[in-house]
Amino acid sequence: MLQLRRVLRLSWAGQRWHHCAAAEVKNEPILEFKHGSPERAALQKALQDLKGKTEEIPCVVGGEEVWTKDVRYQLSPFNHSHKVAKYCYADKELLNKAINAALSARKEWDLRPVEDRAQIFFKAADLLSGPRRAEILAKTMIGQGKTVIQAEIDAAAELIDFFRFNAKYALQLQHEQLISVPISTNSMVYRGLEGFVAAVSPFNFTAIGGNLAGAPALMGNVVLWKPSDTAMLSNYAVYKILQESGLPPNIIQFVPADGPVFGDTVTSSEHLSGINFTGSVPTFKRLWKQVSENLERYRTFPRLAGECGGKNFHFVHKSADVESAVNGAIRSAFEYSGQKCSACSRLYAPDSLWPQIKARLLEEHGKIKVGNPADDFSAFTSAVIDEKAFRRIQGWIKHAQESPSLTILAGGKCDNSAGYFVEPTIIESKDPKDKILSEEIFGPVLTVYVYPENKYKEVLQLIDNTSPYALTGAEFAQDKNVVAEATAVLRNACGNFYINDKSTGAVVAQQPFGGSRASGTNDKPGGPHYILRWTSPQVIKETHVPLNEWSYPYMQ
Ligand code: NAD
Repeated sequence: MLQLRRVLRLSWAGQRWHHCAAAEVKNEPILEFKHGSPERAALQKALQDLKGKTEEIPCVVGGEEVWTKDVRYQLSPFNHSHKVAKYCYADKELLNKAINAALSARKEWDLRPVEDRAQIFFKAADLLSGPRRAEILAKTMIGQGKTVIQAEIDAAAELIDFFRFNAKYALQLQHEQLISVPISTNSMVYRGLEGFVAAVSPFNFTAIGGNLAGAPALMGNVVLWKPSDTAMLSNYAVYKILQESGLPPNIIQFVPADGPVFGDTVTSSEHLSGINFTGSVPTFKRLWKQVSENLERYRTFPRLAGECGGKNFHFVHKSADVESAVNGAIRSAFEYSGQKCSACSRLYAPDSLWPQIKARLLEEHGKIKVGNPADDFSAFTSAVIDEKAFRRIQGWIKHAQESPSLTILAGGKCDNSAGYFVEPTIIESKDPKDKILSEEIFGPVLTVYVYPENKYKEVLQLIDNTSPYALTGAEFAQDKNVVAEATAVLRNACGNFYINDKSTGAVVAQQPFGGSRASGTNDKPGGPHYILRWTSPQVIKETHVPLNEWSYPYMQ
């Protein structure tokens, strides 16, 4: 009977797998939101629905909503008088409860066929693509200060792609099998990790939160997801969509918490099997250190995946197409107020082209509108995420004002009266080693270093050596020999390298993302290898013939 049930279950799952394989997974199209389009009308309605509203967000532990007394608020970055979410922090005790609840669900979830698990993510992607698209976009725009296009490429397109492509890769992986011979059959079983995975997400991409928690869950893991304080509204919507798509209770525990409290609690559990982190270097280093200090207590070696910051460069050669270099710099440095880990924040321009580049940069800079992206769709960018970010970026502008080697060419004004607004700022540095060219700012600040055009080889070395990061970089050049030379010299300077294109805008399955050095463990979310981090394969050999003797023929 048990066997029959198993066969039935497998054949049912098998049918659905055929269904998925037939529907080929493609990148989600980016909608245009033109005047009169249905997507624009739906988005405007969703934005209207959020006006003045404060959503109450619980912790979800053990399949139940838990409202603790430690209440916090998420503010809209461009209108900080609007509390977009009221949420509460889980304390150490509740986090430990979440760990136990997750562990209680692990075995059954891990034994579910991958086809079943994949279906949940295909369904969530369909909801995001259709009926829930406007809601997730509006929540990302109002909560995280994104414009229409920035919300669309993140909370719709990228998140949908993460869910669909990861599911597709997981299904393909299962079919990646070992060699069997007539006397024995070998198989690879892709198990989840034994224990729980802690997913810690940043504020700047709704999609990243969904992927950090979702990818391990897809692979049979149970997860504690700690969203960022400043992305709570959109992240909770993602969580609800996963639940509505059939994610059983207890597979992902939704636990807003103080960062260090969460980090301290998960790293001190003997059951920690992995950390899936995206955020800043100091936070990731702290977590890594805690894991190493607690190494003796773990039942398995925790997998540590961390995608961190960047100090991304654009290298412009004298053979470059100036318009591409200028427009690429504007988009990469200033879209989403430079709050992308891939944002260009240092530009190296040859002296021969600089007058032309500078004039065009300043001309285009003058056209940039910074504003309220929900009320005014013509705003190109908006406020930075919160007061802390505002003060930090203001500190960098002050540094530029006070340093003799730095000149502010455009922007530089900051105003936090209604929202956390920082003007897109262009700075020229005469000193290639100033800290403004090596440290991450994570704001709308672009620094240019002008080099003698015949010294470009030295400049390539300089780019490679200036910063501890190695996330993204771009070169603008038409000379094919220079393209090849720069590609070779900058081989380790970034994990995503662009030729005649800007350093931002990686697309799932087209440009899987991540960098090395201080930028992280480079596990390339969005690519086929990523899910391998969240499985601990078991190999099973089954022999079909009896073993009749123990000695070997040559011994006789
Ligand atoms: P952050 O490090 O401040 O926070 C990230 C997350 O870690 C948040 O959820 C935060 O609450 C949590 N946290 C803080 N202290 C913690 C602790 N001690 N233990 C456990 N969790 C803790 O980063 P952020 O400001 O949210 O994000 C910006 C950073 O993320 C930038 O450096 C950016 O470059 C990086 N980033 C990188 C990528 C990438 O793919 N490489 C993508 C997005 C963002």
